[in-house]
Amino acid sequence: MKIAVVGTGYVGLVAGTCFAENGNDVICVDKDPAKVRLLQRGKVPIYEPGLEELVRRNRTEKRLTFTTALDRAVQQSQILFIAVGTPTGEDGSADLQHVMAVARDIGRAMNGYKVIVNKSTVPVGTAAKVREVLRRETTHPFSVVSNPEFLKQGAAIDDFLKPDRVVIGAEDPRGAELMTELYAPFTRTGAPIMLMDCPSAELCKYAANAMLATRISFMNEVSNVCEAVGANVDEVRRAVASDRRIGASFLFPGVGYGGSCFPKDVKAMVKFAGARNYDFEILHAVEHVNERQKVRLFAKMKQHFGSLRGKRIAVWGLAFKPKTDDMREAPAVPLINALLEAGADVTAYDPEAIKVARSIFGTRVDFKEKSYEALAGADAVAIVTEWHEFREPDWTRIKKLLKTPVVFDGRNIYNPEHLRGQGFTYYSMGRK
Ligand code: NAD
Repeated sequence: MKIAVVGTGYVGLVAGTCFAENGNDVICVDKDPAKVRLLQRGKVPIYEPGLEELVRRNRTEKRLTFTTALDRAVQQSQILFIAVGTPTGEDGSADLQHVMAVARDIGRAMNGYKVIVNKSTVPVGTAAKVREVLRRETTHPFSVVSNPEFLKQGAAIDDFLKPDRVVIGAEDPRGAELMTELYAPFTRTGAPIMLMDCPSAELCKYAANAMLATRISFMNEVSNVCEAVGANVDEVRRAVASDRRIGASFLFPGVGYGGSCFPKDVKAMVKFAGARNYDFEILHAVEHVNERQKVRLFAKMKQHFGSLRGKRIAVWGLAFKPKTDDMREAPAVPLINALLEAGADVTAYDPEAIKVARSIFGTRVDFKEKSYEALAGADAVAIVTEWHEFREPDWTRIKKLLKTPVVFDGRNIYNPEHLRGQGFTYYSMGRK
């Protein structure tokens, strides 16, 4: 099939590449010429495991091309994906300006029947708005489809090629049929294609992300209660997770959720429910708990050191989660800001996110290219992102490098007894 994907970010680039991988002809469009130039040379501007190799292969096979020229991409394709950002607007709702601009440009360029697919995460009613814009801009026939994306950064290729389910919101049989045909190769292992109306499809994505964010905030509260009453959150989590009605995922306490999706989607859901006079009470609490959790590790540092002025803190992990370079809403940002404000010096290391972190902190943070380099002369190390390479470090070496052997583990990746046995003062989340 002939496909265009507008927006070559984490979602658009992965989707376009995976559609090409299954034999489709895909044109990826982005308004950022620097990004497009990189992609045309086979270079991927983001870190996503396995993506660069897949982009190169499909480029070489000429199934995947990159351009800034939206009109030509529209004219040469039948299915057009909108995969641009929907960031939080000033009032907390999803800012749809990029989605609407693309819809308008698509409408102006159309030369025949097209399926226009909202892949961006968009509030209920956006498909109807896109339809309205297209009606204004073109007399050609079209179908508007909602196809929310559930991939996880860090495992995006696998998630896209082998989804748990494909949600398709469609209001007419022609659009639904073409989308079902397009996704058939991705669902051979039995994953369902779920056909529904557009408002339900639009809501699915928010409901899923809000549920996951709720689990995280809930478990962070359980962890805080564990600290208050002297229980161990590891034991509690294991017991709770073994209940099949609950399951094991998203039950790890930590430094709060971040990333480009959970914070903005929780906010947007509160907003669009509120606009229909529904107060989504749980989500207010989910957000509030998350904000509080983000400063909890800092509070432990303050409690330990008293004043942080002149202390040197090494931060291991900057990305909002492992296997990505994405720092949007990353909990490392408020932690580092709080440390700097308190007069501490910060050295930091992350396997992939240093370039992005530099654009946020400039020279205020001393970034190191090697994990152990960040520890030299530090008063403590804080683990903020649970990258695999931090899991089994050389504690003897760490003890020699640190000025004082203090570890603040925001992700509970170490064994408290083991660390104390090695002579470390060890703080973690929800454990004695
Ligand atoms: P992103 O910011 O990484 O990428 C968006 C891209 O769109 C950028 O490259 C930007 O230059 C481009 N763009 C913006 N306006 C454009 C225009 N008018 N024409 C052409 N290109 C334009 O965003 P992302 O993380 O890929 O997210 C995209 C959407 O997918 C969002 O709605 C997000 O909520 C949703 N989503 C994201 C994830 C995720 O894990 N990142 C997962 C599921 C859904």
